[in-house]
Amino acid sequence: METNQKAVVVFSGGQDSTTCLFWAMQKFAHVEVVTFDYDQRHKAEVEVAKEIAEDQQVTHHVLDMSLLNQLAPNALTRDDIEVKDGEDGELPSTFVPGRNLLFLSFATILARQIGAKHVVTGVCETDFSGYPDCRDVFVKSLNVTLNLSMDDEFVVHTPLMWLDKAETWGMADELGAFDYVRTKTLTCYNGVRGDGCGECPACHLRKNGLDTYLAQKGESQ
Ligand SMILES: [Zn+2]
Repeated sequence: METNQKAVVVFSGGQDSTTCLFWAMQKFAHVEVVTFDYDQRHKAEVEVAKEIAEDQQVTHHVLDMSLLNQLAPNALTRDDIEVKDGEDGELPSTFVPGRNLLFLSFATILARQIGAKHVVTGVCETDFSGYPDCRDVFVKSLNVTLNLSMDDEFVVHTPLMWLDKAETWGMADELGAFDYVRTKTLTCYNGVRGDGCGECPACHLRKNGLDTYLAQKGESQ
């Protein structure tokens, strides 16, 4: 088990999954990435993922998941639904039910095809924004199910699970990837790279984390 040095990273070209890519490249000898194309509101996401994968010289798999849009029309895939945070315990409008269930399952099937035992995902419980399939208990449960389903011994890694956004910036920094993640990744719902549009919920979350991290860093120096 420990000798398997091949990993698949679930990769969107965003801050979290790019940080996970750098984490995986440090930990495993061979890393490949997989991006799910589900008619995202900004097609730029798949293009950014492709560019970063080329840049980092890792094999990039793009899987067509457009069926997700058939199952769950939502703000990330439909221009006529506004992106907004959930209020009073409601799920945010960006929610695609079961998305991580599907993504992690497909990523693990791909891992089996390429002989990888490790699957890395940037899901995170700390910034839990109403996505039940980002929770640690869900990922652990799915890991068991995937192993049972394929009679195999995959390990699903979640390096960001207990980090807040500031700590995720800290991890990128420790990995020597702070500037890269800051300028090359796409988190913004409006498709603006790097620091983004500054207006959407994803930009707010990213900026708050970045400001907090930079303030903490400044204090410790
Ligand atoms: Zn934005």
